[in-house]
Amino acid sequence: MIEYVPYSGEPEAMNCPAVICDTCRKQVVGQGNVIWCIRAGEKGEQRQISPIFAAHKGRCDRALELWLRGQYPIDDHWINLWEEVEVFMKQFNNNVSRSFDEDPQGEYHQTIVKMPGSPHDELPQIS
Ligand SMILES: [Zn+2]
Repeated sequence: MIEYVPYSGEPEAMNCPAVICDTCRKQVVGQGNVIWCIRAGEKGEQRQISPIFAAHKGRCDRALELWLRGQYPIDDHWINLWEEVEVFMKQFNNNVSRSFDEDPQGEYHQTIVKMPGSPHDELPQIS
């Protein structure tokens, strides 16, 4: 997840925003993915979405995806999506100052956020 990491040291104590792996709880630097789940549902149903999770590429993101399949089952029409952290951050930064309401070229759909059980209560397991 994107989190604030408390820092103490020089030049001063501060909180540092960072991407933290939801499997091993270490900082993701460089190679990593953000992972989220969506459920389109039946016609007329409002779309649902999970919060955004993050993991190192490889064993950590595979373990996280398995954990997410338990939280957001494919039998209930959920699918996992992912994007590289670097690409996600570029798009995120662009959208911080760009209003979806003022975009004449398309429609942005409202969603309902479905929270999972916390991966931090029981970390995804690397197999
Ligand atoms: Zn990790």
